[in-house]
Amino acid sequence: MKIIGLTGGIGSGKSTVSSYLEKKGCKILDCDMISRKMTEKGSPALEKIRQQFGSEYFLSDGTLDRKALGDFVFNNRSQLDVLQKIITEKVIEHINNTISYLKDYQFEGIIVIDAPLLFECGMENIADENWLVTASIDTRLERVSKRDGLSKEQILLRINNQMPEEEKEKLSNCVLDNSTDLDELFNQIDMNLERINNEY
Ligand code: ATP
Repeated sequence: MKIIGLTGGIGSGKSTVSSYLEKKGCKILDCDMISRKMTEKGSPALEKIRQQFGSEYFLSDGTLDRKALGDFVFNNRSQLDVLQKIITEKVIEHINNTISYLKDYQFEGIIVIDAPLLFECGMENIADENWLVTASIDTRLERVSKRDGLSKEQILLRINNQMPEEEKEKLSNCVLDNSTDLDELFNQIDMNLERINNEY
């Protein structure tokens, strides 16, 4: 069993890489999906969120009022950090439990932790190696504005809010350059999968 941490800034192509790895038979642990699960009704993070933020952020059926809480924390940086810490803790716990389960069942394949905030959340030590997907800022702006219809200024604001690429590169064992076409990207992935398979 080998564990890869996969990350990349907005519009880098991380989701494209993750889908390709899934097609190649890797088991994907999607942190965005897991974090949504962690805030669904009955999930372990909810009680902590209620204790921290109060019942006013819950609807009458016990589900989280995502809009109200979102409006509150996005206007309050320190509270946003508190919320993210609560959710991140539960996401990491879920990932560690899944990995232990797969180990117990002698899973022999490759697990990919698909995490936009892999380094920011301190998840880099879970994986055997960490992969960063990169592309030039201009390419990322072009792709995201085409995909989401956002202005380049809006995308730049989000990019500038993320950890700088140079820092992420220093923390990565493998950098996938997604500046050109998909064939080129998939070739780099195939080469790295081959390398990992040869290490067994
Ligand atoms: P985000 O974090 O913003 O969700 P992401 O890093 O997951 O983005 P993707 O969604 O994989 O990035 O890619 C962004 C857009 O660019 C998508 O529309 C995708 O189809 C396209 N794209 C990715 N790689 C390439 C490529 N090499 N050539 C052309 N288009 C690409």
